[in-house]
Amino acid sequence: MTATQFTLFFIATLALTTLARLWLARRHLAHIARHRAAVPDAFREQIQLADHQKAADYTSAKTRFSMLGILFDAALLLIFTVGGGIQLIADICQGWFSQPLVQGIATLVTVLVLSSLLETPFSLYRTFRIEARFGFNKMTVKLYLIDALKGMLIGAILGLPLLFGVLWLMGRMGEYWWLYVWGVWVVFNLLILFIYPSFIAPLFNKFSPLQDQAMKTRIEALLARCGFTSSGLFVMDGSKRSAHGNAYFTGFGKTKRIVFFDTLLERLSISEVEAVLAHELGHFKHHHVMKRIAATFTMSLGCLWLLGQLMQTSWFYQGLGVSTPSTALALLLFFMVMPVFGFFISPIMSAYSRKHEFEADAYAARQTAANDLVRALVKMYQDNAATLTPDPLYSKFYDSHPPAAVRIANLQAL
Ligand SMILES: [Zn+2]
Repeated sequence: MTATQFTLFFIATLALTTLARLWLARRHLAHIARHRAAVPDAFREQIQLADHQKAADYTSAKTRFSMLGILFDAALLLIFTVGGGIQLIADICQGWFSQPLVQGIATLVTVLVLSSLLETPFSLYRTFRIEARFGFNKMTVKLYLIDALKGMLIGAILGLPLLFGVLWLMGRMGEYWWLYVWGVWVVFNLLILFIYPSFIAPLFNKFSPLQDQAMKTRIEALLARCGFTSSGLFVMDGSKRSAHGNAYFTGFGKTKRIVFFDTLLERLSISEVEAVLAHELGHFKHHHVMKRIAATFTMSLGCLWLLGQLMQTSWFYQGLGVSTPSTALALLLFFMVMPVFGFFISPIMSAYSRKHEFEADAYAARQTAANDLVRALVKMYQDNAATLTPDPLYSKFYDSHPPAAVRIANLQAL
């Protein structure tokens, strides 16, 4: 392959995925608009027309705004790569630092910081305009800034040593560097999973032990029935940032915790909370977390091997606007460009995730009452203003959870 051929191939693929994303968004908008006038039959008893229309308007506002983001991201990627942006930043960093490893890290960090600064207006608009307009945002500008600073600091503390280690291994370990880097990557990710519940999450939210005795008794009985041990039931002050509700598990082994958003507990009855938790336990019982981690690690091994091959060609660099090849620039280009090609496997990943959701729902229906889960889900759809009528194709591509109607029909058939 020549550099020019690769440039054309990259631009064509980017154009194709960008158009496909925009087309899917348009379909989604049209589908929601067509179903805006009436609540779907299956939900008529529980959901009011006003709530259904709020969900339609909220989803449409988010989708319409995401179309702008899709175009912006594509333009930014072109400027950074074939537009010579990365090369320019690399040249500047080369002038500032003499050590190649430091030059590489400086280039990577500059590009990452610059991209996140450029994305900030989008995030601000989403939080303070769209989320606020529909009554979901609880965040102040001050909290937003503190979150951003904390995120950057944690990213630097954890990410810089990792980056340093990875670039060092890439430069020193010869032909099979990608195996060493993969080992480091696996250990790093497991470490994050271990420290996240006790060290990282508490930097952003307060976690207090669940106080409600009646609920606690019910939940502990469910846990015992399912043969599950955890190191605690916690309530998280999710209402600090958003009115959206959720429940999740974090951690491994002894650090395993069950976390409920305060916003969720406020809205659901004890039986409904129990059903939601049973669904989460279903994920655990079916080893979904482990399977997902194993799948991610396998894919990252494949990616690193591929990067190892691409790095040895000159067309990979030149085709993406870089005239001074280096390990740092190879790493940067690869992870910027890969999502463009990864778009085509996103329906497979989404389908895999939806399969897990069905399995967890079936488990919940065996351990608790399916109807409790249905009621809890409808309340969550309503509170989150999630559309009940997504475009089927859009949903196939992006949704990690089955569409509301499909999921509920499935639960009712169990
Ligand atoms: Zn789930």
